[in-house]
Amino acid sequence: MSEGAAKKEEKPRKFQAVRGTRDLLPPETALWNRVEQTAHEIFSTFGFGEIRLPVFEPTELFARAVGGETDIVNKEMYAFDLHGSFFLEYRRQEIPRYPEELTPAEYEQAIREFLEGIDFALQSERLEKTGENLAVIEETRQAFQALQKSIQSLDLQQKNDGSSWSVEQLNSAEKIKDLAEKIKLGSYAALRPEATASVCRAYIEHGMQQLPQPVKLYYMGPMFRRERPQKGRYRQFYQIGAEVLGGSDAPAIDAEVIEMVMTFFDRLELQGVQLDMNSIGDRNCRPKYVELLRAELLKVKDKLGADSQRRIETNPLRVLDSKLESEQGIIATLPRIADHLCEECAAHYAAVKHQLEMRGVIYRENWRLVRGLDYYMRTTFEITAQGLGSQNAVCGGGRYDGLVELLGGPPTKGIGFAIGEDRLILSLLESGKGAVTTGRDVYIAWMGERAHATAIRAAKDLRKAGFSVELPPVEQKFGKALGQADKLGAKYALILGDNEVSEGLWTLKTLADGSQAKFTEPDLLEHLRRQKALSS
Ligand code: AMP
Repeated sequence: MSEGAAKKEEKPRKFQAVRGTRDLLPPETALWNRVEQTAHEIFSTFGFGEIRLPVFEPTELFARAVGGETDIVNKEMYAFDLHGSFFLEYRRQEIPRYPEELTPAEYEQAIREFLEGIDFALQSERLEKTGENLAVIEETRQAFQALQKSIQSLDLQQKNDGSSWSVEQLNSAEKIKDLAEKIKLGSYAALRPEATASVCRAYIEHGMQQLPQPVKLYYMGPMFRRERPQKGRYRQFYQIGAEVLGGSDAPAIDAEVIEMVMTFFDRLELQGVQLDMNSIGDRNCRPKYVELLRAELLKVKDKLGADSQRRIETNPLRVLDSKLESEQGIIATLPRIADHLCEECAAHYAAVKHQLEMRGVIYRENWRLVRGLDYYMRTTFEITAQGLGSQNAVCGGGRYDGLVELLGGPPTKGIGFAIGEDRLILSLLESGKGAVTTGRDVYIAWMGERAHATAIRAAKDLRKAGFSVELPPVEQKFGKALGQADKLGAKYALILGDNEVSEGLWTLKTLADGSQAKFTEPDLLEHLRRQKALSS
């Protein structure tokens, strides 16, 4: 290898964020903070309290809640072995169902290696030490020791001959395989693809049904889905959501939750906000509608694309969601759920709409609005905003009355929404409503040892008064310092040189117009305070 090639190889790898994830950087993070702060403020005025949830949960929680047939669960979850005992599954696979596929010596080795793996996993806390698990491990071990003894009594040739198994040995080997299958090796967790399931899990786990109902919670944080990344769609993205659990399913609750999101968007001055409403019925009327839809879809199956054809079987409602141009004409002729709601659902839907009108919330009915998650029933809604292209949904939500029960809790009403924070931010930026002030208030241009000490004290006092201050760590010529202050977008430069320090009069330069004035220390603070009050 040439020296050049060797050097090239040594060059350290440059890392990049994993596909579909990204860094959020200043100054944009200031906007993220503003959005989140606004959520805290608005949601608390509606009586919601914040819940902070784990980022991973048992995979089964999402499979059960979101639905086994949904894209999210089927192909988008990041699941992993919680105990790191995945290697044991491989060793278990090495033990054949039919022992005679191996020689007695090979079979003995396969089980021995599996049991050694079990010992290692137990020592290193990679296996659940439940009583049941420990008992079945012990039983496997004993059965193995008995078989091992019997194999050891064979001569060398027999040990290495697959046809020398006795019936007794085969029976006990098969029993060992059965026992090994019973050992619970790992438990799986997944990075959360959404948070409603977690909120319901927490509601049950902490007995929140004992609290005054309904319980109103909100959350914010990252979610993870293995989707194809594009603008507005990431594999790690952020949601801000809220849930109302327990109490009644009064239509006013649905309307108030929607009013709260709309108030939040309004406060942020989100542009082009459009609320779409629908009711997708309940356990009573939806299955009948779905069957009717399926029957109608089967009649036109040949005209549909592959995705929709598949969904006729798995989830016909999702066909209504299709954006495929060629399917739009067909979808327009399909039966509409609004015409097939049972009496209770129809009354509930009408009352939700009335309640929205009482609150001055403008909506559009969209009979094709169905959601990608199984748990929704009755009220469903989606909010879109401008500047987002095809991924223009910033919020989705709906009612999910059966979910807590499905997760092992008491029958509980529930409704909530999730806002896509990445998209919300994108839309605010695109429409020019994402501006945040990030420049420093004061840049301290100091020169000389004495001035340095004064500058440190001045920075401390100004920061205490709430001003953002840049204090250069090393002495700079005034010209350079002022240039730096300009680049950082500072409003003022505070000039501290020997003269200023000995006179006790500090020079403040307003960078926008270049004007300069001298102040005593207390006057300066007062002046800055007054200016700040004037500009806010
Ligand atoms: P869902 O949990 O699927 O109802 O989504 C609620 C909202 O989260 C959507 O309206 C989007 O704004 C946002 N969202 C969902 N998936 C993604 C993603 N992969 N990247 C960015 N935002 C997303």
